[in-house]
Amino acid sequence: MIAILKHGTTPDQAQHLIQWLKKMDLDVHLSEGKEVTILGLIGDTSRVDMELLNSLEIVESVKRVSEPFKQVNRKFHPKDSVIEINDQVKIGGGHFAMIAGPCSVETEDQIIEVAQAVKAAGAQVLRGGAFKPRTSPYAFQGLGAEGLRLLMAAKQATGLPICTELMNLVHLDLFADVDIIQIGARNMQNFDLLKEVGKTRKPILLKRGIASTLQELLMSAEYIMSEGNENVILCERGIRTYETYTRNTLDLSCVPVLHGLTHLPVVVDPSHATGKAYLVPPMAAAAAASGADGIMVEVHNNPSCALCDGAQSLTPEQFADLNRRVEIIREAMR
Ligand code: PEP
Ligand code: MN
Repeated sequence: MIAILKHGTTPDQAQHLIQWLKKMDLDVHLSEGKEVTILGLIGDTSRVDMELLNSLEIVESVKRVSEPFKQVNRKFHPKDSVIEINDQVKIGGGHFAMIAGPCSVETEDQIIEVAQAVKAAGAQVLRGGAFKPRTSPYAFQGLGAEGLRLLMAAKQATGLPICTELMNLVHLDLFADVDIIQIGARNMQNFDLLKEVGKTRKPILLKRGIASTLQELLMSAEYIMSEGNENVILCERGIRTYETYTRNTLDLSCVPVLHGLTHLPVVVDPSHATGKAYLVPPMAAAAAASGADGIMVEVHNNPSCALCDGAQSLTPEQFADLNRRVEIIREAMR
């Protein structure tokens, strides 16, 4: 971290600041020029309050020269992380996973039918929401604990591992048999929730918040890893921009950017990113071409009757076609 001091700062004032910084266990390198004085802060600057430092009367500006995230940082962990789901499925480091299923679990027949269909079409993980974060309190909120029970029935019937969203800490005990805990976009910065799932050793699919920067996404992943859970999968699901034609704007450039910054795998969700079924296959293909480590897609056996997100849900046939195209793209990219 670098702090530039204002023109006219006296040597006494600079020394006073240096002593204050040294109390934070930092080495401080002073370079005095004719016009400006620069302090180079060396050591663990992750605890330095940049805004506070910036607000001091003698400080002109402060710049970070290293990232505030450590455990997720590729610099300290050059090899790709491979996240293992139940010794069955691997994500990352060249292992690609297709995660598919309905937005929400509705009935036993529905979830089992979709699970069998997506498995037949090549999915490795079944998704389905039991606890749903809905914008309206009057919309279908999910079946809750009963939904988890139905997901387990689908897991038994197909052998597919389950990915489902945890919204509230009080439900964590109910997730003992869930294979991937999803932290949704709305909870990406629910730091208490992140810390608690960080205490488990379960794979966590962390979705990017609708207005979150990549640094904020990585800091949220850092929360989980700093509690000891290294099994974090990042998920790009579209961000809010001024464009209203699509539900969100899929930020595909984040895939290579994240791959440069972190060793964690990156999955793309073209369903929530676009909100329209016909846009999902081309964006899934683009995600595969961008180097994503997996794709998460909403699939429903009868999209027009879905209780949630029908407009963006694919039929099992459409999903099978998408999967075929993604395979071709991945083969071509090898
Ligand atoms: C979902 O995956 O069903 C979901 C609600 O996603 P997001 O948190 O990305 O909106
Ligand atoms: Mn959905």
